[in-house]
Amino acid sequence: MIDTVSTPLAAALAAAVQSFIERNPASKGLARRAAEVMPGGNTRTSLWYEPFPLYMASGEGRWLTDADGHVYRDFLNEFTSGIFGHSPSELRHALLGAFDRGLNLSSHHGMEIELAAEICGRFDSIERLRFTNSGTEANLMAITAATQFTGRKTIIVFAGGYHGTGITFGRDVPAGSVPHRFIVVPYNDIGALEAAVAEHHLDLAAILVEPMLGAGGCIPGDPAFLSAIQRLCRDRGALFILDEVQTARLAVGGRQSQLGLDPDLTTLGKFFGGGLAFGCFGGRADVMDMFDPRRGDGVAHSGTFNNNSLVMATGLTACRTLLSADALSAMNSKGDQLRERLTACFDQHAAPFQVSGLGSIMNIHPHGNAATVAAWRKLLFFDLLERGIYFAPRGLIALSLVTTDEDITAFLAALDAALQARAHLFDCAPADETLAK
Ligand code: PMP
Repeated sequence: MIDTVSTPLAAALAAAVQSFIERNPASKGLARRAAEVMPGGNTRTSLWYEPFPLYMASGEGRWLTDADGHVYRDFLNEFTSGIFGHSPSELRHALLGAFDRGLNLSSHHGMEIELAAEICGRFDSIERLRFTNSGTEANLMAITAATQFTGRKTIIVFAGGYHGTGITFGRDVPAGSVPHRFIVVPYNDIGALEAAVAEHHLDLAAILVEPMLGAGGCIPGDPAFLSAIQRLCRDRGALFILDEVQTARLAVGGRQSQLGLDPDLTTLGKFFGGGLAFGCFGGRADVMDMFDPRRGDGVAHSGTFNNNSLVMATGLTACRTLLSADALSAMNSKGDQLRERLTACFDQHAAPFQVSGLGSIMNIHPHGNAATVAAWRKLLFFDLLERGIYFAPRGLIALSLVTTDEDITAFLAALDAALQARAHLFDCAPADETLAK
């Protein structure tokens, strides 16, 4: 049986979509032009939504301006990568300085050493690391490291996990399209994990996990669950790979420093490139030293842009000047406050929503059947857009280092107004023929 939504909710959504179309003729035109040269006009699936996505023209500090001239407070911040806000002068100088010293140096250079040292200095578990171009590649290489190091092939991963394109185990996407022997286990379920390890331990190369499901809806991992992964890996000679591509922003040493975890390998990405394409994987010296080219049997790992001088320079400046313990802590405290106040706002309106997450990353979740959830997600997205708030249609909110208390107050005021305007929809039952699933 297919879920449906209540008739009033469907009508409200249709009206909101119509108003979005009318307000955004320039984005609509760009989407049409894009579809002539890219499939569906899209080159990044997560950015697409009906009836067409907004096209942004520019960003400054905490603000975004779209192609039709509307100005938004940015609460998406490039799906957590845009931690710096738009174009801080420190990163601009670093980028231009590296450019002026020579683009594409065809060689090693000092900045890669310094950025590697900065990152190793932040994470106790990272003794050595290697750079990649994305978090996806970092995870692919960590898996390669684990299979090569252990001589085994099986990787335990978790339902709802996202480790990059092709390494995703969400409900709507076919499991892991890269050809590894993945065993998908429910997240936060120690019993299921122990059973899977007992069954597969002879061939178990690694357990790969996010300390909080990010794309999977900002669901924090239970500390006991994450510790169990570490223990089971130690017991069975498998590697514990912690994907901190998103959660590294929670503290200078990432989520692992908050929970006292000691992964064998960690993967990072997003903001450590100072706003440019970035990834890295690192950890135990004995594992990483497999990639040492001085060894006759070293594992190869190439990539034209792995040590790109622009990325290394902006990443280094970001670490040294912007990503301090105090700055991260202030940003994450603001996130904790926002989550509390969102919950209070939903309660006050008896609105069918809740919020999950950690620190400066969170996700709003509507309640109800699948179709109702999808409809509310979209309606809330359009309602907040209209009130000058930009976040992800799937409900993701990510603060940046430049998000202010005033932004948070403005978000809550917009939400309050939107919920007030939609209060009559909260109690509507789904259209009758569809109640069973
Ligand atoms: N791991 C996690 C936890 C992520 O959130 C992401 C990106 N959203 C990735 C890996 C992949 O990173 P990238 O998009 O840089 O390939």
